[in-house]
Amino acid sequence: APALVWFRDDLRLDDNPALDAALASGRPLALLYVLDTFSPNLRPIGGASRWWLGRSLAALEAAIAAKGGRLILKRGAAEDVVQKVAQDLGAGAVFWNRRYGAAEIAVDTALKAALTARGLAVESFNGALLHEPWTVRTQAGGPFRVFTPFYRNAATLPLRPLARPHGAWRFAPAPADAASKGDSLADWSLEPHAPDWAGGMRAAWSPGEQGARQRLEDLLDRGLKGYAELRDRPDLDHVSRLSPHLRFGEISPHQIRAALRHAEAAGTVSPRDTGKFVSEIYWREFSYHLLFHNPDLAQANFNARFDAFEWAANPEATRAWRRGQTGYPIVDAGMRQLWQTGWMHNRVRMVVASFLIKHLLTDWRQGEAWFWDTLVDADPASNPASWQWVAGSGADAAPYFRIFNPVTQGETFDPDGTYVRRFVPELAALPAAFIQKPWVAPGEVLARAGVRLGETYPRPMVDHAEARERALERYGRIRGV
Ligand code: FAD
Repeated sequence: APALVWFRDDLRLDDNPALDAALASGRPLALLYVLDTFSPNLRPIGGASRWWLGRSLAALEAAIAAKGGRLILKRGAAEDVVQKVAQDLGAGAVFWNRRYGAAEIAVDTALKAALTARGLAVESFNGALLHEPWTVRTQAGGPFRVFTPFYRNAATLPLRPLARPHGAWRFAPAPADAASKGDSLADWSLEPHAPDWAGGMRAAWSPGEQGARQRLEDLLDRGLKGYAELRDRPDLDHVSRLSPHLRFGEISPHQIRAALRHAEAAGTVSPRDTGKFVSEIYWREFSYHLLFHNPDLAQANFNARFDAFEWAANPEATRAWRRGQTGYPIVDAGMRQLWQTGWMHNRVRMVVASFLIKHLLTDWRQGEAWFWDTLVDADPASNPASWQWVAGSGADAAPYFRIFNPVTQGETFDPDGTYVRRFVPELAALPAAFIQKPWVAPGEVLARAGVRLGETYPRPMVDHAEARERALERYGRIRGV
């Protein structure tokens, strides 16, 4: 009887513990992906993520075809679909890698019970995290709320060995029943057609396991040198851009960790850079820890005091933010990078999030939702955790009164204005001295650069000093709550 492997957020063949166990079982393989837009409480993925998913599944299909097999694609509520496919195939065992959101856990738990009741063997594995959320515990046995002690504790725990596919790739025959064969990827229309807004994303990314491997190689060859020092510079290329690959499980943090260890041993990377990089990977782990222990992370303030915060409802201001038309060049460059490429540099994410929350007094959940829709790495744990971190409502959060000055942030982290010039081309001819604050440039400088404030580029939509005072005053109202 075949072994059915259900792929979810683990779209890779290497270091895939569920797949590895299925191969080791000696049973013929059947491989399944379910597009689940039907199970209760699952958050539908955003547009940019749908694009990525479509590409990533195409890559996975090709990799499986190269092994002589095929990926069965099915649409529906996973609990029903997986049972139906297992039945049609006469499967004897079902394998998957675990997920950590409450709705996903509910689906998986119910499914496991149903399959087991029918006599199938069901096994689940850790494919996505260095340490699963419940394995990292305080001395009292509870969850962590602060990153540093979490990291210290987690870093002492053992790592699972890499899963090496072994056994022959022997595939189960396709079911005779045509309906059981599944959909074709094109049926799902995951990629946009009219309008086709994905051109910038196609140019920037190669979704799939191969693309992920290439990114990791690039990082080790180049990007990691100076990472500790330069990872905050959006104008430079010193971050990995592995986040969407990690989000869809095209690479595992174990593979990254192993590659870094190897490079450290070979002396090709500095421990300072790898140390910093690994700590960033642990921020992802911490986000999953928070999500697992706080399933409503994307809806509820971690710090309940923020429930009383009086957010402003100003849809027009939020629209200007989304479109990169705030009049603050670093904010606008970030929002346009996001729209065009589906990704934004981490430093700029912090700046734009702070601007939305503190300068525009907009509820962080609105920003979280926009990122959810537009990021290719939109992640159920890191996205809400990071938004709450910036808002000050989160676990181990930045204090609310830390209000980024977008001009100073731009001048510090994009000193020549290279990043702004790339994404806000209407300012490209401005000298570096004014590129982060065009409104202070003398008239003739603006004229020479072809900039007409209020026409070719907006004036700042709020004054920084006033916005800061207003935010602090509003925060003061909940401080004593
Ligand atoms: P690198 O610097 O190369 O880091 C390597 C990996 O470490 C990343 O791929 C990521 O998996 C992890 N990582 C790095 N920084 C963080 C962090 N602060 N929190 C959690 N994990 C981190 N990251 C997401 O993966 N998905 C999101 O939806 C997401 N939303 C964010 C929203 C806001 C408002 C902010 C401020 C940050 C958000 N981040 C999110 C975290 C971070 O910005 C991205 O992980 C990072 O920019 C990805 O680029 P990279 O892969 O080049 O990072």
